[in-house]
Amino acid sequence: MTAWHLSGVVLPGTEPTDLWISDGVISAEPPGDAQTLARDVWIMPGLVDAHCHVGLAAGGAVDRATAEQQAITDRDSGVLLIRDAGAPVDTHWVDDRADLPRIIRAGRHIAVHKRYIRNYAVEIDPEDLVSQVEHEARAGDGWVKLVGDWIDRSVGDLRPLWPADVTEQAINRAHELGARVTAHCFGEESVAELVAAGIDCIEHGTGLSGEVMEQMAARGVGLVPTMTNLEYFPDFAAAGEAKFPTYAAHMRALHATRFDVLGAACEAGVPIYAGTDAGGRLRHGRIAEEAELLATLGGNEFALGAISWRARHWLGAESLTAGAPADLVVYNADPREHIAVLHHPRLVVLRGQPV
Ligand SMILES: [Zn+2]
Repeated sequence: MTAWHLSGVVLPGTEPTDLWISDGVISAEPPGDAQTLARDVWIMPGLVDAHCHVGLAAGGAVDRATAEQQAITDRDSGVLLIRDAGAPVDTHWVDDRADLPRIIRAGRHIAVHKRYIRNYAVEIDPEDLVSQVEHEARAGDGWVKLVGDWIDRSVGDLRPLWPADVTEQAINRAHELGARVTAHCFGEESVAELVAAGIDCIEHGTGLSGEVMEQMAARGVGLVPTMTNLEYFPDFAAAGEAKFPTYAAHMRALHATRFDVLGAACEAGVPIYAGTDAGGRLRHGRIAEEAELLATLGGNEFALGAISWRARHWLGAESLTAGAPADLVVYNADPREHIAVLHHPRLVVLRGQPV
């Protein structure tokens, strides 16, 4: 395996340094025969998309060739670690491919019958939640994904899917099995109930109250707002308008307040991480757009941590210290000053090899 050398600023640091790669990992010592890959550059620990779906498209499950292309598109945007937030197919075959990003899976989305997008989730009765969580905890890589709320057509508005006592039992069971739990929450009720029940992370979180933010900050409950996805709330509203005007108005209100709510969560100290919600209806490879929107909440350095070193630490992945896997992205300018440079990685190195 070729040994490599780069010289530049390794974020979040500020001083230029030499980075050596040998046998796929960061080397503390210069290897004898290293070839220089780049000089005078800015280097980020491999980017993280913490809410992404590989193996899922608008109609549900996709074939292996399509899933492979999704993973390649993410990789080429600099995303080298994915937390898959629910896929209807098993993508563990990706783990045998040195050229594809690392994936931490949540198994399948868990929803109640007819209470989520068709063909995405495993749909169950609420009383079967604990046993389904056991199944998904074993099928995934340390995460379980619940659909926390969705439109209830009988009331014409967003409603939680699960009785609060059932989710608490399910979250406790996941924790016993060593898995963390996250949930899709658009509205106010579901997120309050799930945080009270001891959940580990919230997806979207547009219905967060000040009180719930304080609880999340105190307990270190993660928040992955998927800001590029929230831009589509008016489309959800328009699609439901004729039959469900209350729901449509609710979605528009959540959309209108999204920057205020998420900005307040950031200020309250809720740990926020980047997720594009790629797969489903949304295309892959949008981490730069997500970072630009996150930067509006807490600045460029905050957004860069949310797509890289902070998210890596949260998911148990190392950054660019000696002995760590050499997963990194190289830029021609400092993304702290020019966040738009994220759209144009100069070089992506995965497992110590340029891709
Ligand atoms: Zn999603």
